[in-house]
Amino acid sequence: MQLSLPDENATLALGQQLAARIPSKAFTVYLYGDLGAGKTTLVRGLLQSMGHDGAVKSPTYTLVEPYQFNDRSIYHFDLYRLGDPEELLFMGIEDFFTDNALILVEWPQRGEGVLPEPDLSLSLEYAGRQRTAVLHAHNALAEEICQDLHI
Ligand code: ADP
Ligand code: MG
Repeated sequence: MQLSLPDENATLALGQQLAARIPSKAFTVYLYGDLGAGKTTLVRGLLQSMGHDGAVKSPTYTLVEPYQFNDRSIYHFDLYRLGDPEELLFMGIEDFFTDNALILVEWPQRGEGVLPEPDLSLSLEYAGRQRTAVLHAHNALAEEICQDLHI
């Protein structure tokens, strides 16, 4: 499934809509796309619509940034600088996957083999000055979420 995102607001809106539709249980989203494609922008839209105010730090150096809301934990990973998937084991990554967390991962290909399988994969691609989002649902729940998006 493909969605056209003509500007930054459309990317933010996609993040907001995902926030409203992803249930409060363990759920993993892989975010693919080149540098500057809009992965962190989408995460910002998602987090802000859940009530986070303030900036959304890009966890390029820390690898992960945790967020806690009333009923859920969100972990925003950016694995761009990860040298080896095994480094995730050294940082105790399993701890992030045990509760009902929403896991958002930029550059998931760098953590292959150690990261949990995604429920939803989303690829942001350059389309001139705009972006196209290509969504891939890996199960029925994710499929339902995708069908319900209105961008
Ligand atoms: P990434 O995390 O993928 O490296 P960022 O979200 O940090 O990318 O940066 C994306 C850049 O592209 C920002 O400058 C943002 O304003 C812009 N942008 C985001 N979505 C769109 C869009 N749909 N069309 C045009 N520009 C966008
Ligand atoms: Mg980013």
